[in-house]
Amino acid sequence: MHQYVFDFSQGSKDDKDLLGGKGANLAEMTRLGLPVPPGFTITTEACTYYLDNGCEPDGLAGEVGTHLAELQERVGKRLGDPEDPLLVSVRSGAAISMPGMMETVLNVGLTDISVVGLAARSGDERFAWDSYRRLIQMFGTTVLGIRNESFDDRFEARKKARKTDSDVDLDASDMKLLVEEYKDIVFSETGRPFPQDPRQQLDLAIRAVFDSWNIERARIYRRQERIPDDLGTAVNVCTMVFGNLGSDSGTGVAFTRDPATGAQGIYGDYLPNAQGEDVVAGIRNTLSLAELERIDKTSYDELLDIMARLERHYRDLCDIEFTIERGKLWMLQTRVGKRTAAAAFCIAGQLVDEGLIDEDEALRRVTGEQLAQLMFPQFDPDAPRELIATGMAASPGAAVGKAAFDSATAVAWADEGEDVILVRRETNPDDLRGMVAARGVLTSRGGRTSHAAVVARGMGRTCVTGVEALRVDPSAREFTTTDGTRVVEGDTISIDGSNGEVYLGEVPVVPSAVVDALHGQRPDDAGDQEPVVDAVLRLMNVADERRRLDVRANADTPGDARRARQLGAAGIGLCRTEHMFLGERRKIVERLILARTDAQRETALDELRPLQRADFAEILQAMDGLPVTIRLLDPPLHEFLPDLTDLSVRVAVAEATGNPDAEAAELLAEVQRLHEQNPMLGMRGVRLGLVIPELFALQVRAIAEATAELRAQGHHPLPEIMVPLVAAVQELESVREMARGTLEDVARASGVELTIPIGTMIELPRAAMTAKQIAEAAEFFSFGTNDLTQTAWGFSRDDVEAAFFPAYLEQGIFGVSPFESIDAEGVGRLVSIAAWEGKEARSDLKIGICGEHGGDPASVHFFESILLDYVSCSPFRVPVARLEAGRARV
Ligand code: ADP
Ligand code: MG
Ligand code: MG
Repeated sequence: MHQYVFDFSQGSKDDKDLLGGKGANLAEMTRLGLPVPPGFTITTEACTYYLDNGCEPDGLAGEVGTHLAELQERVGKRLGDPEDPLLVSVRSGAAISMPGMMETVLNVGLTDISVVGLAARSGDERFAWDSYRRLIQMFGTTVLGIRNESFDDRFEARKKARKTDSDVDLDASDMKLLVEEYKDIVFSETGRPFPQDPRQQLDLAIRAVFDSWNIERARIYRRQERIPDDLGTAVNVCTMVFGNLGSDSGTGVAFTRDPATGAQGIYGDYLPNAQGEDVVAGIRNTLSLAELERIDKTSYDELLDIMARLERHYRDLCDIEFTIERGKLWMLQTRVGKRTAAAAFCIAGQLVDEGLIDEDEALRRVTGEQLAQLMFPQFDPDAPRELIATGMAASPGAAVGKAAFDSATAVAWADEGEDVILVRRETNPDDLRGMVAARGVLTSRGGRTSHAAVVARGMGRTCVTGVEALRVDPSAREFTTTDGTRVVEGDTISIDGSNGEVYLGEVPVVPSAVVDALHGQRPDDAGDQEPVVDAVLRLMNVADERRRLDVRANADTPGDARRARQLGAAGIGLCRTEHMFLGERRKIVERLILARTDAQRETALDELRPLQRADFAEILQAMDGLPVTIRLLDPPLHEFLPDLTDLSVRVAVAEATGNPDAEAAELLAEVQRLHEQNPMLGMRGVRLGLVIPELFALQVRAIAEATAELRAQGHHPLPEIMVPLVAAVQELESVREMARGTLEDVARASGVELTIPIGTMIELPRAAMTAKQIAEAAEFFSFGTNDLTQTAWGFSRDDVEAAFFPAYLEQGIFGVSPFESIDAEGVGRLVSIAAWEGKEARSDLKIGICGEHGGDPASVHFFESILLDYVSCSPFRVPVARLEAGRARV
């Protein structure tokens, strides 16, 4: 027969899928001989069976009965016994931790009869009735679906009648009264009395925990955390131990190190004379663990000892729940604890020093995303701040600005040089302008896949979403929080996109010492950031030793090139040249495109050539000794021409006022002729280069001359010429022939030997599918994964990201935007086929990728798995890519 129930002594920490995290770790602690109250776990399989079929699997009731009987035997108490009743907790616990999302019922087994026995046995009447009223409330809300407030109201009223605001001032008679009132609530809300059969209480509680898998907050949480919906929860039935048995009892939570900073030493809260969730619920102020040492040194020492053991055993930071019952310590939960990015790096380093893990393991314990968070400016940790609400950490960074409640206001204020935070219930494509103008975006609805979150991440804006405590009123231009704070348009607020916190007023921002350190500018005194700076540098070294992939940067200016080099880039993987043709130079390009005669064309070219040569010389020098992949001109032609609408208006006005402008009219005709419906798929890249060969020729000559010049001065420029948007090998062959001719010319004229590799971008599906042929003509490939994603999926990023991506993410059509992380099974397959066939045709073909995916952790792992030579990403992401390239090898 299939086994659905396991005793705590039967499992281990590796059984999370079956027993849930809580159950597996309770079993592990039991195995280690730690003081865990005995109990058993009902598997996640029983839960999924129940959820799929609407009823418990055959035999479950019997198995629970058998384990219950064993438990009663072991502890020498019986459920419902009128003299000495066994009480149990019925606790949820999924394979992946979902803190506070599902339900737990304590004190199951108390009835009108057994409560009297419990009082007599414990010699504490107040305790017995306090436990009973807790059971009725938890059972009432969790199992019977009664609102918590119904009970809380009675509790508050009782405290008021007693003229106190502390629960400890209520005595046994108060608790008895509350029990009567609570039972009345149950009867009036459900039409039935509170169940007096303990086994029925147990079965109903187990079923309620199964059901809690599908309550709304759990479902939302799973969607946000990308936890599959079909895992189900395990149910732990655990003998009750009592922290509410007077002042020598209590309950607490603790961490084996500080989960915020990673600092060594235990951290935690303790609440005397309290049960279970009182600590988290904040009903009274908690004490620090240090005070526990004063109150009960024996238990404290034992706790410390156990925590040290757990850390050594799990080889990681653990958090725990414990209860002390009349001086006896009990362990109720442990798990490897969540931590901040800074703590993750610090702890990984410490554990290596302590000999608990090796450097490879340390590298596995940190992530590129955590590093990215540390590279953003952060709010000064020491600065006072007024937290008014918390939501989802949707896009990292620390942003301060004036609250604006619509896009137009945000744009207007930003134009005046103000910092703005755009506050909306949720954003939609109309808010795009406002999001661009704002420092940060704050919404009351939506999670990490909402429009605001997706778009903000796409453009690197700080964003906090789903702040449920926020009521946004766009027409009144204000928001209020549930605890009554009001923020009107123009008030300053601060938002932290790394932890989802919202503060009133301005919180000072400190630059990241991690960035300075990665730049090689180690601050003499990084203050509080010192330990994390050390830990980051140390793990970066490990990553650099382990990684096989080179990491280059996408950089278009000498400044960016220098920054990228400092951040560890091994060259430039993509140097775009279009900006070199804009601004003041746009006019010259316009003349070149519109030239009627060779002479006109020559003049324009003569003007552009020295400018281009200087551009390239500067960048090559900034990257001296390292490869610089220069992409020839890529964007559609019309980007260099005057705006069609503006020009039409100008011509029309001139005509209407009787001063027709012949030159403008002629220009208009030309611009109309070149206008494209769909420029992304129009005349751009190599197509432009073949139609107006002078443009590419100009660029190649400028690259060649700059190189020759620098060589002659003793430098080591290493340019590579990259042809964009090639679909057919013939396109590349034409450009290559021209380029070789030009390179030879310059070599001859300058007397410097020029061997400059010529390669191509692979960014169209046809190019990927004909990679073998293309490789015959290319010395390197660089996958342009942004365009490849657009052309493989057949959508244009600018049009879709705001329009329908949130809906697609919501519906699970993709788990993450294919522009954020490479779509391995579609676009990634094109890349791997092309890389493979390219190398087959030319074994020394160098292959890299230069889309934004180059800085995305999951994508870096994919590119490592298909053995590319390098990834190239924005300078700021270079350290992230280095770290992940290392992690991909351990
Ligand atoms: P959560 O997953 O929300 O932490 P738990 O199942 O851990 O829920 O239980 C909620 C609270 O009740 C915790 O503080 C826990 O320590 C306490 N608790 C659970 N079981 C027992 C028990 N058998 N005896 C005493 N306290 C318990
Ligand atoms: Mg817990
Ligand atoms: Mg492209």
